[in-house]
Amino acid sequence: MNNYHRFDCVIVGAGGAGMMAALEASQRVGTAVVSKLYPTRSHTGAAQGGIAAALANLEDDSWENHAYDTIKGGDFLVDQTAAEILARDAVECIYQLEHWGLPFDRTPAGKISQRRFGGHTKPNPDYDPSAPPGSPNARPRVPVMRSCHSADRTGHMILQTLYQQCIKQGVTFFDEFHMTDLILVDGECRGIVALEIATGQLHVFHAKSVLLATGGFGRMFKVSSNAYALTGDGPAIAYQHGLPLEDMEFFQFHPTGIYRLGILLSEACRGDGGVMINDQGERFMERYAPNLKDLASRDVCSRSIYQEVRAGRGIGGKDYVYLDIRAETINRFGTSPTGKPVDHRWVESRLPDIIDFSRTYLGVDPIREPVPIQPTAHYAMGGLPTDIDGRVLRDETGAIVPGLYAAGESACVSVHGANRLGTNSLVDLVVFGRRSGRDMARYARDHDFKPLPPKPEAASHAKIRGFLERPRNYPWVKLRDRLQHVMMDDCGVYRTGEGLERARREVASLKEQYATLGVQDKGSVFNTGLLEVLEFGNLLDLAEATVASALARTESRGAHSREDFPDRDDSRFFAHSFAFRDGPDSVRLAYRDVDVIYIEKDGQRQPKYPLEIRKY
Ligand SMILES: Cc1cc2nc3c(=O)[nH]c(=O)nc-3n(C[C@H](O)[C@H](O)[C@H](O)COP(=O)(O)OP(=O)(O)OC[C@H]3O[C@@H](n4cnc5c(N)ncnc54)[C@H](O)[C@@H]3O)c2cc1C
Repeated sequence: MNNYHRFDCVIVGAGGAGMMAALEASQRVGTAVVSKLYPTRSHTGAAQGGIAAALANLEDDSWENHAYDTIKGGDFLVDQTAAEILARDAVECIYQLEHWGLPFDRTPAGKISQRRFGGHTKPNPDYDPSAPPGSPNARPRVPVMRSCHSADRTGHMILQTLYQQCIKQGVTFFDEFHMTDLILVDGECRGIVALEIATGQLHVFHAKSVLLATGGFGRMFKVSSNAYALTGDGPAIAYQHGLPLEDMEFFQFHPTGIYRLGILLSEACRGDGGVMINDQGERFMERYAPNLKDLASRDVCSRSIYQEVRAGRGIGGKDYVYLDIRAETINRFGTSPTGKPVDHRWVESRLPDIIDFSRTYLGVDPIREPVPIQPTAHYAMGGLPTDIDGRVLRDETGAIVPGLYAAGESACVSVHGANRLGTNSLVDLVVFGRRSGRDMARYARDHDFKPLPPKPEAASHAKIRGFLERPRNYPWVKLRDRLQHVMMDDCGVYRTGEGLERARREVASLKEQYATLGVQDKGSVFNTGLLEVLEFGNLLDLAEATVASALARTESRGAHSREDFPDRDDSRFFAHSFAFRDGPDSVRLAYRDVDVIYIEKDGQRQPKYPLEIRKY
């Protein structure tokens, strides 16, 4: 049968995580990458600002600082062993990327250049606890330059570099193949089913181990920085098979999306000295984060914008504020990262793409005027629960699903906890993509192919036939609009029990209507309407899990901010949520302890990273 393929390892997704895993696995066993997009169109290519690693090229730094910032940035919901691996392996991974040819920007001395990003700090060497508040010595920690970058096109360079290496190493690619199902037998993964977009035919991929690296699912929300393809297919399909999704209530809103469009203006804008300004011309972050100001973590900055808007200080009383990266503003506030005044040529050389986006999509030239911005749905901290080798967990006990792996944004290791720091996703892709690739190859070497069930493609076939055979009696795009609106309004930056309950009812009603949908195009060649309906179904399932997890977490932590429960509640919720599908419309929740590292100090066993209330 032409539509049957057999590889030791099958990787779904050709973003940074998938290709990094492919480079590792293919050194050891036969490996194929299946991707619905042409590989270099993956969202990793849109990443702008940088990739974190404590190289200490411009100032003192250490992987320990990076691990601490990651754990604190995640509001202590981070698994600490994983965070230490992330911070330690980051350094080696950056040099590996450099040796593969990634053209990083350079310091005058020829080292890899680094810039500041929110929440990345080091201890202040001049810290004086008795210094008057507001003085520089009163800050216990100060921003550090930790983000390695290629101008503001870092993800593009990573993706191109990894793809070139994959081609060089002979990885087999199935481009524009859309995974529709996982083949799970007796709790083990034995392959996947995918639709060939050019022909409409279903293909069966028989594998010893499968890695899901399908990226994020920001398309659940109305205003989003995410590409159209980011619909969470991997996690959704696993969830449909009864596997859990971890920490779904934590979705990051990036503070600086272009107003109404959601297109991202990287945090590098603020790392390089840009500031956010309200209607009164104030640098309002001074009020909310007196130490780090505009370089506080993203959850804090996004909430601050909402607070300003609610207080009537949005621009012209509206629901947006300004991001100002003009050289004169940077010089006026003294926020230049070099400590020296800058001119507009310098700004343009550091942020060329971002300046172009604003000129092209908004008609605003950031060199001359401030840019209207609002928070935009950006990053899924939650996803498929995995251990530190990318093995997918079956439940909250930590038992694994043999043969199934996940990495990148679709996974939850969890190194980002309740809120990810900027530049920590790209490093998560390479560090944990690499570990997953190694482990899935080891697993494939240690095991034989197991038989497939008869007709593993039957369920996908029946589902697709349903959409093609039913008449198109309703414009389904309107249903997707309803989903995106309710998620933005009721499950966005701020949440309440009442709003979440409304979202839960709306998602349930949308799911009912979804089951009766038909598509207009009944053909088989490049039927993008059919693909979008399949993707919309995945978003609905992920929204269901997100809302249920958010309703149950009656506390505020990181990106999950409940107005009816404004405080963090460590006594009840210092734990990861696991959401399982339980029947067609209900969700069952369970909780798993956060991984905490203990050390011996003063003869006593103590947590290495004590819980603290975050202050930036
Ligand atoms: C605009 C923007 C800027 C960003 N900037 C930064 C930054 O500066 N630093 C940082 O650390 N992070 C940044 N991020 C976040 C980071 O880029 C992403 O989290 C990361 O790239 C995700 O990588 P991934 O490999 O998990 O998935 P992606 O790169 O999104 O790739 C997903 C892959 O899965 C495939 N796929 C999906 N569904 C299917 C299916 N059903 N069948 C087959 N294939 C499928 C796709 O074809 C694609 O190849 C940014 C994100 C955005 C949106």
